[in-house]
Amino acid sequence: MSTPRTRSPFPDGGRPWEDLSAEMAKRSARDADIVGGRAPAYYFFAEDETYEIGKKAFNAYFSQNALGNRVFPGLQSMEMDVLDYGLGLFSAPEGAHGVFSSGGSESIFLAMKSARDAHRAKAKVGRETPLNLVVPITVHPAFDKAALAMDIEMRRAPLRPDRRVDVDAMRALIDANTMALVGSAPCFPHGVIDPIEELSRLAIEKGTWLHVDACVGGWMAPFFTRIGRATPHFDFRFPGVRSISADLHKFGFCPKPASTVFFRNKEDAERSAFRADSWPSGAFMTETLVGTRPGGAVAGAWAVLNHMGTRGFESLATNLARMVDAYVAGIKAIPGLEMWAVPDLTIINYGSQELNMQAVAKQMMQKGFLPSLTRAPAGLHAMLAMQHEPVRELYLQSLRESVEAVRAGTATGTVKSVYGGG
Ligand SMILES: *Cc1c(COP(=O)(O)O)cnc(C)c1O
Repeated sequence: MSTPRTRSPFPDGGRPWEDLSAEMAKRSARDADIVGGRAPAYYFFAEDETYEIGKKAFNAYFSQNALGNRVFPGLQSMEMDVLDYGLGLFSAPEGAHGVFSSGGSESIFLAMKSARDAHRAKAKVGRETPLNLVVPITVHPAFDKAALAMDIEMRRAPLRPDRRVDVDAMRALIDANTMALVGSAPCFPHGVIDPIEELSRLAIEKGTWLHVDACVGGWMAPFFTRIGRATPHFDFRFPGVRSISADLHKFGFCPKPASTVFFRNKEDAERSAFRADSWPSGAFMTETLVGTRPGGAVAGAWAVLNHMGTRGFESLATNLARMVDAYVAGIKAIPGLEMWAVPDLTIINYGSQELNMQAVAKQMMQKGFLPSLTRAPAGLHAMLAMQHEPVRELYLQSLRESVEAVRAGTATGTVKSVYGGG
């Protein structure tokens, strides 16, 4: 907000596409080279054909509105398919229900709304009773957002040395007004999956809702497990898990905006839905917070999932895992650097006991790699997708040089993270 901006006047209009597209390209000339793997987040690339199919399906349904499922039964059937795929992937029991939303934050809001109302119904309390949410320190700020909007207190538990939440610390924060516990699969900052099985036992013991935030990795993590990685299970197979959020537009490799949220039972799903019947147009119901939704997002997800399928996701998991291992080995081979956690999926986070990581990040930025940082512990962070494979050698070489420059004392300074802490 530093330099005051002169307000752009409402345009006269009439500019042809050639002119507009040229100006848009000019405006975006300094955007990050996401396709070239220079940004640590925001873009999820699997391979060319999947990318093109997502784009074509999205554009084919560019004008449709997924709010109007009576008007667009084709889109509705695709949406139901996508949700069925998720129910199967996450071991959901009979009677479970999924909702197609426009993003992780919305999925989380819907789950928290449902958890709040379920708690109020069970504890027989109303709006006068302040409720709290017991979460790992690493949960995504989308929970803070939902808590702020619904007047819920956030209670944050610390981590174990492996950077998964300390379940005993969570236990100590629970009281009669705890409406839900949360675990991440994986958490954004360190890329590890919280001990969901233990959290499930705790939730059952305390009679509390457990939400699993699998927004970033949910649609991919089960395939890591299937190809034999040590990626732990996190889904409805654990009886205390009552809801799961999982974004299609992250490691589901589907076009934005697309996310899903699943409820163990239909009654909970009903609690997240919104109904109104007092305006002149009659009964109104959405399962989402938003009204209008892009039809392209639904069609894009259906097409991408059907193109990829089990075989596509397994082979992508193999390629991603191989790449992550190579990044981790390369980072560990640089004297002074260490991993802050052993990645369960594709998020890496590393730092140093001796080096100023802000200065390292600044060097990396000067070499064309935008930084994502963690604050505690101080470190660099990246969500690796396949666009990061062709630049791996260059990244690691740049990192080695950056570390050497910082060690030699010739490089200092601080940078702002493009995402997260610092
Ligand atoms: C991205 C993310 C979210 C929020 O999702 P949006 O689609 O950005 O709203 C929630 N939780 C985790 C772990 C995430 O990585």
